[in-house]
Amino acid sequence: MRLTKRIFFDLAIWMVGFGLLIGLSFPFFVLLLGVPVDTAISPSFFGACLGAGALAGCLNFSFAREVVGKRVQLLAERMKTVGDELREMTYSDDLGKSTPTNCYIVVDSDDEIGHSARAFNNLVTALTRSMQTQTAIRAFNQMLSSRLELDTVANGALGQLLDHIGATAGVVLVDMGGTLQVQASLGVRLAETIADSDHVSTALRSGSTEIVEIPAGVEIAGALVDFRPKAVLFMPVSHKQVPLGVVVMASASGFEANVKERLELFRHGLGLALNNALAHDRLQRLAALDPLTGVYNRRFGLGRLHEEFGRAVRANSPLAVAMLDIDHFKSVNDTYGHLVGDRILTAVAGVVSSILREGDILIRYGGEEFLAVLPAASSEDTRAIGERVRRAVEETSVVEGDQAIRITVSIGGAAYPNQNVESEASLVELADEALYAAKQSGRNRVEVAHQGAVLV
Ligand code: GH3
Ligand code: MG
Ligand code: MG
Repeated sequence: MRLTKRIFFDLAIWMVGFGLLIGLSFPFFVLLLGVPVDTAISPSFFGACLGAGALAGCLNFSFAREVVGKRVQLLAERMKTVGDELREMTYSDDLGKSTPTNCYIVVDSDDEIGHSARAFNNLVTALTRSMQTQTAIRAFNQMLSSRLELDTVANGALGQLLDHIGATAGVVLVDMGGTLQVQASLGVRLAETIADSDHVSTALRSGSTEIVEIPAGVEIAGALVDFRPKAVLFMPVSHKQVPLGVVVMASASGFEANVKERLELFRHGLGLALNNALAHDRLQRLAALDPLTGVYNRRFGLGRLHEEFGRAVRANSPLAVAMLDIDHFKSVNDTYGHLVGDRILTAVAGVVSSILREGDILIRYGGEEFLAVLPAASSEDTRAIGERVRRAVEETSVVEGDQAIRITVSIGGAAYPNQNVESEASLVELADEALYAAKQSGRNRVEVAHQGAVLV
């Protein structure tokens, strides 16, 4: 029953009141024990009993306040700390200030006080976990939304997912036109081989995350990772029910029981980001590549040449271009038709690409003309590369019915630095002139503009 607005004050009233009541009734009890009436019912004995009752009440109250009050006070202080920290963290992503261990209360009794302390500690743990997860999801989605390139999205996602679930190695496999390709890999030796795993195709088909426990003593075929994984997790990623890929993660110590539920929170964001990155990738290809041959189109390729030329000038390093034109292509078209002509164009692009080095750029410059940009190549290198290309095309044939059609190319090259080259346009012009010379001198030839060539 409440008497005032303060619980401990109520308690004091009840305890002192009860002490006084005991003090008041004590003289009558002692009568039963045979104490003479004049001694028991005397003002001094009454006074002593009342005093003792009041004192016992006061002491009771102080003990209760000392034992219970301090615990309740501590609980209040910790709640305030948690509240303050939560308020501070709500609008910042900084979990660094959070010190959950400072908020815990020692549980040293098996009663209501102990139960409240335990419940409070559980609340702190749950809140900390919830804040950590929310912050991780926010950071994950922020990171994904700030990137568009497929490999950067995949690498960023893999790093954060591994961190979040405490895994050591992983791979992101993305479906690129029907085949799973490795877009990110961390700590895995032969990432490509993982795409062939049955677990990957099962996860992709079922759409649900699968964990494979690896019993001690079982060796993983080919030792794909540098450590002995205890469990491997296969998380499929999709967008609007369209499977996009699988994230595979391996842990040396196994995964927590609720890892699937936790990863579920990241799956949607990753699906959306992968879908956007794939769309971006397709658009990039559409904008940059020639649809027939798959090499760079003229607009995009010349942009790349401009960049390479600028780099060569800044670094004072060589840069060469080689212009390639198919010989008598009109008559090939006239004899075999345009479709066969198209197949020959694609075959030539393939042969040239296979000979160029990584970092070289092949551009479909015009109808049956290609421009190869060769960073760091001198005029001698250009002649050698041109010669290799010329021979390779000469040895290639395109089969049409029972005929093997053979074609040849003429190639004109020019290299920077050259006293007459001030821009990439004049470099291309020199190569074009060299190509003209190659055509004039009989075709199926390579000509390279000499260093002091003058533009006419
Ligand atoms: P040259 O040895 O002097 O280069 O003779 P050429 O017949 O190759 O030269 P020309 O420039 O007269 O002819 C180029 C031909 O390339 C004409 C055109 O029909 C053909 N061509 C251009 N683009 C394409 C294409 O995309 N597909 C096909 N099949 N043919 C193309
Ligand atoms: Mg031509
Ligand atoms: Mg031609």
